[in-house]
Amino acid sequence: TKDSGRNGYTFFTESMHVSANRQLKLLQELRRALQRDEMVLHYQPKFRADGGGVIGAEALVRWQHPGLGLLGPDTFIPIAERSGLILPLGDWVLDQACAQLRQWHDAGHATWSMAVNLSPLQFSSTTLLDTVKATLERHGLAPHHLTLEVTETTAMQDVEASLQILHGLTAMGVKISIDDFGTGYSSLLYLKRMPATELKIDRAFVRDLEDNAEDAAIVSSIVALGRSLQLQIVAEGVETAGQRDYLNELGCDLLQGYHLGKPVDAEAFLRNAA
Ligand code: C2E
Ligand code: CA
Ligand code: CA
Ligand code: CA
Repeated sequence: TKDSGRNGYTFFTESMHVSANRQLKLLQELRRALQRDEMVLHYQPKFRADGGGVIGAEALVRWQHPGLGLLGPDTFIPIAERSGLILPLGDWVLDQACAQLRQWHDAGHATWSMAVNLSPLQFSSTTLLDTVKATLERHGLAPHHLTLEVTETTAMQDVEASLQILHGLTAMGVKISIDDFGTGYSSLLYLKRMPATELKIDRAFVRDLEDNAEDAAIVSSIVALGRSLQLQIVAEGVETAGQRDYLNELGCDLLQGYHLGKPVDAEAFLRNAA
């Protein structure tokens, strides 16, 4: 059975997850989805924590499935990753997000930046560097306007290869955000070697921030750690005004979450920001 989740898109229940037939069918459909123009990007604003406004967006992919409705990434990114389809899909996401940022810059929001999520397989080949460079050039964007978000686990798959690619990206001027920080298994030593510019605190630590002293302590340690490594600190999953104020007090630089702005299509994003 499917149902409409709080993100506004269809999600699958556990029973559907285990159906191998369903997975195979989805894979076949996913192969055609790109050609059929069924993929769309939604954009969630990133705000300055001090109330200073929107600094840009994170691109989040969705699949407008002809029969099942709007599908969230959790239903198809794992299939795309296992099948290798994530490579063409990832290229499409990067191109589409950069094309959108170009439009926003031209519309007068020339300081906005764009964040794009990368998955492990995209780190398996050095063509990522060439693809990123060519995409930025194609859309006439300065590298510092692009942030690539990687999870700790993404970059941990092949540490040396990932570090080499990350160094190549930062040398180009692209920014690197460590997504879902605090949920992975990376050592502090590894973090020290990562050429990151941003730490994104996972929403698991934000959820109960106001009544859980341990979560508050974790957030403030991450902020202190990030500060000492000269990283920008972002908190995700901000759902209440109380969380927003607390995270600002704790020293976060940027905030993201439903309370501030949900992921929406490009048109609505611009309308909300105006
Ligand atoms: P993520 O990178 O951690 O993205 C944040 C997720 O949290 C998004 O879910 C977003 O809609 C949701 N979110 C934002 N604010 C709130 C909030 O206040 N409360 C709650 N509960 N959730 C919030 P979404 O769009 O379903 O994306 C899920 C994951 O799929 C992303 O997690 C990311 O890892 C992956 N993903 C999305 N787009 C792409 C993509 O283009 N490429 C790759 N490789 N992965 C993607
Ligand atoms: Ca992300
Ligand atoms: Ca995240
Ligand atoms: Ca996450």
